[in-house]
Amino acid sequence: MANPCTLCSASCCKDLYITVTIFDIVRISDNLKQKPEEFALIYPLRLINFDNDTVLEMHDRKYLEEHILCLKSHPCMFLQGRKCTIYGFSPSVCKAFPKGIDGKWKTRLCPAVSGFMFRTLGFGARLRPTYLWELDTYKRIVAEWNRKRGKKAECVEFLLARAKEELGKKSAIE
Ligand code: SF4
Ligand code: SF4
Repeated sequence: MANPCTLCSASCCKDLYITVTIFDIVRISDNLKQKPEEFALIYPLRLINFDNDTVLEMHDRKYLEEHILCLKSHPCMFLQGRKCTIYGFSPSVCKAFPKGIDGKWKTRLCPAVSGFMFRTLGFGARLRPTYLWELDTYKRIVAEWNRKRGKKAECVEFLLARAKEELGKKSAIE
């Protein structure tokens, strides 16, 4: 059966903010040998109803600013034509899409036929087994960052250091 995405011009990769966890960043950075700042950014959040547990608070000014960790998007810098050039290690959100992290279909951008195929014919995103661990651990790290009331320039370094620490602990017990 055809992949529903072959009927589409990769709308999700072109139009959405690709929100990631710090573990996605580590994986992409290791595979591409690129620094996080070459492909990711901390983007000011101007939305409400986001997943509050992944919102990073910055305390550079008197008032609190909210940001979110994203790939460089619109379109995603890893999109070439209609192909993902990092398919093997693309972010968990991409592996899951068009299911959201809440497990619900997000087929609004999909052509009608593709959306139908996803929702009714058994197509569907397969999540990496480590996805839930990464997401839960990332939320914990974000909460630590928010308690710290840190400044934006220090944020990625903090997240990376904590991610590496958590990955080290995980591999020690596996
Ligand atoms: S998930 Fe939907 S929007 Fe994204 S490429 Fe597939 S069909 Fe298009
Ligand atoms: S990483 Fe790949 S799948 Fe994810 S948005 Fe970018 S091009 Fe699309």
